Amino acid sequence: MPIDPTLPYDESNIFARILRGELPCSRVYEDDHVLAFNDINPLSPTHVLVIPKGAYVSWDDFSARAPDPEIAAFVRAVGLIAREAGLVDPGYRLLANVGAHGGQEVPHLHIHLFAGAPLGPMLSR
Ligand code: 5GP
Repeated sequence: MPIDPTLPYDESNIFARILRGELPCSRVYEDDHVLAFNDINPLSPTHVLVIPKGAYVSWDDFSARAPDPEIAAFVRAVGLIAREAGLVDPGYRLLANVGAHGGQEVPHLHIHLFAGAPLGPMLSR
């Protein structure tokens, strides 16, 4: 069920629980501002979720409210994770779903990093 991105941040969402260590994750990367872990239901051979540690509902919320150092750390971490996994040469895809039309299900900003095989068309027609 897509979330309503205009609602306040829900501290009980699944990624908030992962950040608090209440639920496990298969961690790929972590720094002061960012956590990345493997998607529990991968849609490609590599499917990593990159999230800010701050409480942001969506890309809209993050881009409007996050301090510049958090935004810089997040953007750089996404690139670093892909580089360190050797994904630049074969290529990869980034995706952020926002709200109902985007199909966002977890109300904590996350970037999907897909890779590991040709990913096909950007959207199905
Ligand atoms: P969205 O549709 O919100 O962009 O994507 C949410 C993603 O979170 C989905 O790809 C889903 O498989 C993933 N996901 C949901 N619950 C969990 C979980 O508990 N652990 C992990 N690692 N991924 C999850």
